[in-house]
Order: sequence, then C-alpha cells, then structure tokens
Amino acid sequence: MPDLTLPPAMTRLFHLIYRSRQSAPWNPQQVSDLSCQAADRNRTLGVTGLLVCDGQYFLQILEGEREVVETLYARIRQDPRHHQVVTLVAEPIRARYFAQWSMGLVALGPAMDMMPDREVSDDQRHYLNLAARQLYELDDHRFKIIFHAFTHGRWRADIPSPLAPPVAARSLPEVRLPAADLGAMADNGAFFAFQPIVDTYRRCISSYEALVRGPRGESPAELLGRLQGEALYAFDLHSKLWALQTAARLGLKDMLSLNFLPGALTYQPQAVPTLLRCLAQTGFDPAQIVLEVTEEEIITRPKPFFAAISQLREAGLRLAIDDFGAGHAGLSLLADFQPDKLKIDRSIVTGIHTHGPRQAIVRAIVDVCYHLGIVVVAEGVEEPEELAWLQSAGVTLIQGYVFARPLLNGLPGVDFAVSRA
Ligand code: C2E
Ligand code: MN
Ligand code: MN
Repeated sequence: MPDLTLPPAMTRLFHLIYRSRQSAPWNPQQVSDLSCQAADRNRTLGVTGLLVCDGQYFLQILEGEREVVETLYARIRQDPRHHQVVTLVAEPIRARYFAQWSMGLVALGPAMDMMPDREVSDDQRHYLNLAARQLYELDDHRFKIIFHAFTHGRWRADIPSPLAPPVAARSLPEVRLPAADLGAMADNGAFFAFQPIVDTYRRCISSYEALVRGPRGESPAELLGRLQGEALYAFDLHSKLWALQTAARLGLKDMLSLNFLPGALTYQPQAVPTLLRCLAQTGFDPAQIVLEVTEEEIITRPKPFFAAISQLREAGLRLAIDDFGAGHAGLSLLADFQPDKLKIDRSIVTGIHTHGPRQAIVRAIVDVCYHLGIVVVAEGVEEPEELAWLQSAGVTLIQGYVFARPLLNGLPGVDFAVSRA
C-alpha cells in the first residue's frame, strides 16, 4: 500500500539509480514480496523510491540521506537476488521525486502479464498503477529518459555473446630470450617488455605492444623523463631498433605496436626513412607495425604530424590513438582524422561492468568506430567482469592484466580461457 507518512525533510538529499538482473526467474508473488519488504525497510530508514521490474531486470531509484542510501546500496550489491548491478546515477537532489512511496512497484510488460488477477489484490493493482502514473507525470527529464532507456535501450543486448569459434590453442606458452641474446644486448640503452593484445573472439594474439624499460628496469616515465627536446625524440626513435631486434629474436610473427611521441616523428626529418630502415634490418614488414600516439600529442602540432602519417601510411604502417578518453581531444579528433585503431584508456575501462556512464561512453565510442572502420581495443582490463562486459558490448580486442602483464625481454604466456586469479 502507498505509504503516505512522509519522513521529515532532510538535508543532504541524494538519489541513486541502478539496474540489476534478477538472479533467477521470480514469480509475481516474489517480486511483490520483495517490494513490500523493501518498503518496510525503507520506511524505517527514511528512504523513498521506486522499483521497476520487467520480469528479468530491475531498475530501482533510492532517495534519502546520502549515507543511508549509500549503505543501503552497498547491501543491495551484496544481495544474491541481484546480479550484474550497474550504477546509473548517484548524485545530490533538491527534493524527493517519489516522496509518497517507500518503495513503489512498477511491473512492466512480461512482469505485468505474469501478475494474474487472482494473485494481485485490487489494492495492489491500484498501487501498481499509481506508481506507474507517478512516473509518467514526473517533470524530471533525466529520470524519464533513464526509464525509457531501461524499457527500450540497447543495453539489453549486453548479454554475454555465445562462445568464440573453436580454435586450436587454448593457451600460449611464455617465450624468453636465451642468455646469449641477453648478453649481446647488455650495452643497449633501453630494453623492452612485451604485452599481448588478445583477440578474445578468435582466441588468438592480435598483436604485442612493446613497452620501454630502462637498463635498471626504470619505467617509461622515469626513463623518458630524464631526456628533453631533441635528445628525447632521438632516443624515442632510435630505441625502436632495440625493440625490433628483441622482437625478432623472440620470433615474433604477429603485429607489433610501438609507442611514439609524435615529436619523434615530426621534429626529425629523417624519422620515417630511419624507421623503415630499422624494419628492413630486423626483417619486419611495415604492414606488421602499428604506431601508437596519444591524442593530446596529435593536436599540439597537427600539420607536421599528418604529413609524417601520410608517409608512414604510404609505406604500409598503421596508426593507433592511445589512451583515448583520458581527456584530451575526444571524439572531435575523429572528425578530421581516422586512425586504424583506437585504444580506450584504462580510466574508462576500470569497473565498467558496474558503471552506467562509462558503459554509455564506451558504447558511443564503439558505435563511432564501427561507422568509421576503426578497430577498438580496451586497455588496462584487469577483472573478468570487465572483460565480459566489454565483449558483450562488442569490444573483443583486450589488453590488460586479465590476460598478461608485460614481460621484460619476453612474450608472456596467455591463457585464453580467463578465470579469476
Ligand atoms: P601505454 O602505451 O598506454 O601502455 C600501457 C601501459 O599500461 C603500460 O605501462 C602497461 O604496463 C600498463 N598496463 C597494461 N595492462 C594493464 C592493466 O591491466 N592494469 C594496469 N594497472 N596497467 C596496465 P608502462 O609499460 O609503464 O607504460 C606507460 C606508458 O609509457 C605507455 O602507456 C606509453 O604511453 C609510454 N611508453 C612506453 N614505451 C614507450 C616508448 O617506447 N616510447 C614512448 N614515447 N612512450 C612509451
Ligand atoms: Mn601504448
Ligand atoms: Mn594507453
């Protein structure tokens, strides 16, 4: 029954909207019981809101004092009756939208059909209809759109896709350089670690990325941070010969990604021929090579950069935008320039399976890239749940600890069947 005893007005009002998947098929009685239990609980907590159920998924709005709502939400996330809990909105509000419902229930489509008359009392029907009308009369556009997206949205396709086609290898062994090769490289000014980008659909390696390390294992930031200007660009370019030599000694036959400061390509007139010579010397076909640059660096000196890119493309190399979404040019960059590959930054990927706004952003990126013929890679994927979400959203090229950490002077082993560590 609607609860008309309003909790006293509170400061620091907050609302949280999430959707989740029912862990198992429920009968209408169970859904109705759940909303009654929730209503009792919420009454004591001063929480109001709405539960929308379509027979398979829930959309729930919780309004109340911030700490109370957050604590309650933490409990819901642990509740085995909810699977795939995804946060859509969590923010302060001025006033409650659903003040009269400790937990209004809206049953949609199949869920509504499932509620046979004899199991739903007149009171309950009334209650359902009132909650639904309340929803349509809302003057909150944000929630109306979220509600519409819940009932019609494409997120419904986010169900893990069927398993990948069968492939011969379920895993690949690690490959390390023999001691003799390491000895021959002792005087190198830099070394390279390799990390695979895994094609999760075909279950194979799509490419390896070469990541620079200092002679004492220094990180790229530390190593490159010691240099400036021309010396930095020269080092960035010339160190690639060591990367290519190491890759050749490891017997790498796949695609290879090399990171570049665009300055290394634009400030050095001989950059392109130098790189092509290094490739020829180490036996790599230019078509095997992907250059990775970040968007920030592209927009600072676009003209010479595009000139260098034309030359590289003519020679058959490909180009990837690295760290996309880390906050530089954004989608507008793609209006003027289309890379072959776009790597979505780890800051967007982390926790994607629980984060509605990040999911919406990744879907938009996937859609844009699909229409422009750009290959999408997700970087920094650590958790199996992130992997599952990305796959279902159509991102099948994955780089991250979930498959392998970079291995110094080696190609890491990969198990294509991911399991939790
Ligand atoms: P990047 O190109 O975005 O490379 C990916 C970085 O993320 C690598 O860090 C890698 O170790 C790390 N990473 C990969 N998977 C995961 C994961 O699942 N979780 C976490 N937390 N991290 C992950 P690394 O090797 O320290 O490189 C940092 C950056 O340094 C690179 O970022 C790249 O921008 C730059 N860099 C590396 N090698 C070179 C190079 O030869 N030249 C230039 N100019 N920059 C380089
Ligand atoms: Mn990179
Ligand atoms: Mn990156």
